[in-house]
Amino acid sequence: MRVPGVDGYDVSDAGGVRSLDRSIETVRGPRRLRGRVLRPYDDGHGYLAVTLSGRIVRVHALVLTAFVGPRPPGAQTCHDNGVRADNRLRNLAWCTPTENVADQLRHGTHAHARRTVCPRGHTTTDRRNLVAAQARRGRRSCLACDRARSRVRSLRRAGVPYDLAAVASTYLAEILAVPEPERGAAA
Ligand SMILES: [Zn+2]
Repeated sequence: MRVPGVDGYDVSDAGGVRSLDRSIETVRGPRRLRGRVLRPYDDGHGYLAVTLSGRIVRVHALVLTAFVGPRPPGAQTCHDNGVRADNRLRNLAWCTPTENVADQLRHGTHAHARRTVCPRGHTTTDRRNLVAAQARRGRRSCLACDRARSRVRSLRRAGVPYDLAAVASTYLAEILAVPEPERGAAA
């Protein structure tokens, strides 16, 4: 697919960028230059970039612009699997800043991923309040919020009004009322 906005380059849905054959004027007349596959480099933030006609551009932006369309106002790029250098089209999407932060938290790449509380302020350093299956994979997910979300789903189905934060804090109190397991015991 042709790179929109810059003449002379192709980008593939696998994230490859190449220059097209072109001719340049020399003192001895026009000369044909063969296109070549560009070698992307790390832009210092883990993203791959190439230099097109003197401009440094991130490869993910080229892939999305070419195959999806121009960046919507305010949109950021989400790498679905969290790998910033994976610029296959199927790994990319334009997304809102909020979606991007949620994605980064999911992948543990967000600056605050190691924070000690969940977004509702519940502890995530107390092992009792961690979703065990997630904790085994090294992720700290708030158990109180997790339980509250499934409880609220059934309340919603039943048409009962609910307050997710209140439900979650009730669960947190229950969870923390259980004595802490011995160090080294299975959580
Ligand atoms: Zn929580």
